[in-house]
Amino acid sequence: MIKVTVWNENCKECTSKDVLKVYPEGMAQAVADFLSLNDDFSVRAVTLDDPEQGLPDELLNDTDVLLWWGHGRHGEVSDELVTKIYNRVMEGMGFIPMHSAHFSKPFKKLMGSSCCLQWREDDRERIWCVLPGHPIAEGFGGDYDYLDIPQEEMYGERFDIPQPDELVFIGWFKGGEVFRSGCCWYKGRGKVFYFQPGHETNPTYYIPGIQRILTNAVRWAAPTAARQAPTAPHAKDIPEAEWNK
Ligand code: ZN
Repeated sequence: MIKVTVWNENCKECTSKDVLKVYPEGMAQAVADFLSLNDDFSVRAVTLDDPEQGLPDELLNDTDVLLWWGHGRHGEVSDELVTKIYNRVMEGMGFIPMHSAHFSKPFKKLMGSSCCLQWREDDRERIWCVLPGHPIAEGFGGDYDYLDIPQEEMYGERFDIPQPDELVFIGWFKGGEVFRSGCCWYKGRGKVFYFQPGHETNPTYYIPGIQRILTNAVRWAAPTAARQAPTAPHAKDIPEAEWNK
């Protein structure tokens, strides 16, 4: 069972009439709903307004993959919580920041860069898969390895991130801009996947291809080994009798 937590800051914009029209139960719930269709996922949806900013230790320590959507309240997330999330990733937790979470404190701490980009609302996007063999791209294929999003906010280069370890998707916008829309990094024992689509007034998270990518991303980001804090033990010699066992 993969234990998934979907975190949303619940910003003023996210609870406005325009957003509630698209996501009546909130965005975190909409993402949790389609992830819950997988029998091997156990999914919880929380918000910044819940006790302990939505992530008490018991929940964070019980999370294999954390999805994060934030926009206007990044600054309210406590540095203490950010450090805990960072440490959990180092121990093996998967972390999936979505859309405007490019400016979230946990993502910026993991990247070590400004994570700035250029943006414009009311555009349309075509997402191209550039790494079809990657587990997150599973399901892409055929003549055209792309996915259209009829309405999406433009995020454009340059995106101030460290070079991704794996670049899975590139977004193109009708204004001509391009963007590294799906990027993977390996951090400590954990994995990070940033996924750009998901502006709050667009019904992006209902698009089957988007749901497929995020579902694949949860499976990819789930820990594959026992979680463990980084250690620096003194290494003993391996006796020759133990070699080539
Ligand atoms: Zn947006």
